[in-house]
Amino acid sequence: MGRFEEKVVVVTGASRGIGREIAQAFAAEGARVACVATTEAAAQATADTIGDTAKAYACDVSDTASVEALFAKVISELGTPTVLVNNAGITRDGLILRMKDDDWDRVIAVNLKGAFLCTRTVAKSMMKARYGRIINVSSIVGQTGQAGQANYAASKAGLFGLTMSVAKEFGSRGITCNAIAPGFIETDMTHDLPAEFKESVAKTAPAGRLGRPTDIAPAILFLASEDAGYITGQTLTIDGGLTL
Ligand code: NAP
Repeated sequence: MGRFEEKVVVVTGASRGIGREIAQAFAAEGARVACVATTEAAAQATADTIGDTAKAYACDVSDTASVEALFAKVISELGTPTVLVNNAGITRDGLILRMKDDDWDRVIAVNLKGAFLCTRTVAKSMMKARYGRIINVSSIVGQTGQAGQANYAASKAGLFGLTMSVAKEFGSRGITCNAIAPGFIETDMTHDLPAEFKESVAKTAPAGRLGRPTDIAPAILFLASEDAGYITGQTLTIDGGLTL
C-alpha cells in the first residue's frame, strides 16, 4: 500500500520539471493526481505518463475564477483534495532599474497570489474534512535575494509569510502548511542559465552538483504524509548545501 492510496492530490505546474516529478511520485504511492498547467494539453503530457489515476486540468493560478473552477472540477471528477502542492512558478528576470511593472506584477501574481488563491479555495473542503496538507514551492532565492530577480525573490520570500500564516490560521483544523526552498534544479527554468554560473553552483554546493527534480519530490511527499502531522509553518531547504 502506498502512503497516498485513495487520496486526491492537486499539483500546480505539473506539466514539466519539478511539478511533473511530484505528480508522478504521488501517483506511484497510490494517489489520484490532478495535474494542473496553463493548458490542458500541457498537463495531459504528464497525466499520460501516469495513466488512469491522473487527470489533466487547465488553470491560470493567478486568476480567481480559473482557480475556483479548477477545484470545483477536481472535486466532482476526482474527489476532495487532501494535498495541495503550490508549485506553479515563472521568472521574468531583469535588473530593478530596467524592470517593467508588468514583469513585477506577473511574477507576483503567478508565484504568490496563485498560491494564496489555491490555498483559499482548497481550505474550504480541507476544513470540513478537518485534514489537509499544503506545500508551497519557494526557493533559496527567497531567503538570499538574487540580483536580476527582485520580482521572483520577493514572490518566493512572500511564500514564507503565507506558509506561516496558513499554518497558524488552519492548524487547529488538522491542516498543515510547509514550504520547501530548492536550490538550482535542472529544469526548463534553469536551462538557459550561463554554463559558468551552473559550474560555479556545482563547485560551491557541498553536494558537488545541481539538483534534479528527483531530489525534490521525496521531501514533498514526506511533508504531505501522515508522518509530518506535527510539522507546520516550516521551510525545508533542498539545495545540496549551497547556502551553507
Ligand atoms: P518549469 O519547468 O518552468 O515549470 C513551470 C510550471 O509552472 C509549468 O508546469 C507551467 O505550466 C506552470 N505555470 C506557469 N505559469 C502558470 C500559471 N499562470 N498557472 C498555472 N501553471 C503555471 O519550472 P520548475 O523549474 O519545474 O519549477 C517549479 C517550481 O519550483 C516553481 O515554482 C519554481 O519557482 C520553483 N523552483 C525552481 C527552481 C529551479 O532551479 N528549477 C529552484 C527553486 C524553486 P505550462 O507548461 O502550462 O507553462
